Amino acid sequence: MSRNWVRSVACILVGIVLAGCGTGSAPVASTTPPPVTRASAGPSALAVFASASPAAARRLRASGASAVALGAMPHARATAFPQVTVVGDVDERQMADINGYVSQAVHDVSTVTGARFSRELLVLAPRSEAEFARIYGSSNVADIQADTVIVAGKQPYIVFNAGRSIQMVSGPSATSTMPQVNSAQVSRKVLTHEVFHALTLTYAARRHLPLWLTEGFAEWAGQKFSGLHLTPKAKRAALPSNADMSGSNAVDAYQVATSFVRYIVKTCGQRKAIAFYSKAVVHPTGSLAALAERELGHSMPTLVAGWQHAYQSSR
Ligand SMILES: [Zn+2]
Repeated sequence: MSRNWVRSVACILVGIVLAGCGTGSAPVASTTPPPVTRASAGPSALAVFASASPAAARRLRASGASAVALGAMPHARATAFPQVTVVGDVDERQMADINGYVSQAVHDVSTVTGARFSRELLVLAPRSEAEFARIYGSSNVADIQADTVIVAGKQPYIVFNAGRSIQMVSGPSATSTMPQVNSAQVSRKVLTHEVFHALTLTYAARRHLPLWLTEGFAEWAGQKFSGLHLTPKAKRAALPSNADMSGSNAVDAYQVATSFVRYIVKTCGQRKAIAFYSKAVVHPTGSLAALAERELGHSMPTLVAGWQHAYQSSR
C-alpha cells in the first residue's frame, strides 16, 4: 500500500457475535482476499452531491473518501449532525441512530483517554453488503462489520456495515442463539471500537504497534461502553502475535487480546492502562517492555503470567 493507513474491522459470524479487527500497514498476504475493482465517481458526481450537501462534500474531500463513497453509493445522501456527518443510503432513522452511537462514543472515548476531537467525524453508511464491499475494497466481507481508515494528512473516517447489524439481529439464527444481544448493543460496541481507533491513532506513528495492543484496547472500549462482554474460546491464554490477529482464528485472537487488556485495567487501574496505551501509540519506537515497567509498574512477563493464571482459573 502506498498510502499510510490503518484498517480496522469488527467481525460478526453467523449465530454468534464476535469482534475483531485487523490493523497495520498491510494485511497479511495469506489472509488478504482478492481485491475488487473500486467503483469511482467522477467530478460530476461530487458536484451533484455538493450542491445538495456542501458541508458533507467538504467532509468527504477532507477525508479523501469522495470517490470511493460516491462510487459505491451513487444515491448517497448526507446528514450533518453537530459532531458527526453521516453519508450513505440508509434511511433517516438509521442515520440518526448512527449519529447517536458515534456521538456517544466520541464522548466516552474522549472521557476515558483524554483524546480531544474537535472536528466532525465522517461515517459512511452503505445499506447493502455489495456497497460495503466496494468501499472496503474487497469482495470478502463476510465477517466484517466496520472499517476505520486513517490516511496521513486526511481526516479519519469510519465505514459502518449498517445492513449487517440489522440482518444479524433479525435473522432466525441470530434471534435463536443470542436473545440477549440487540442491534443497539452491537452497533454501539462496533462504533465505539472504531471511534477509539479514529481518536487515538490519528497522530500515532503506526509502524511498530502490536495488534494485540491497538485492537485489544479498542475492543475493550467497545465492550466496556456497550455492555456487550465477549469471552474468548481459547483454552489457554497466550498473547496473540500480529499473524494470529490476521489469521484464520483472528476472531478469537481479538477476544484473547481484549482479555489481556481487561486484566491490565483490572490489575493496574484504568488510568495507568490508558497512559500505557497512549504513550505506546504516540511513541512506538521505545520498548513496550520498558513502558510497561514505567507506566504499569510491572514487567510484561509478570503481567502475562498473572493474566494466564487468572485466565486458567476462570475456565
Ligand atoms: Zn479495530
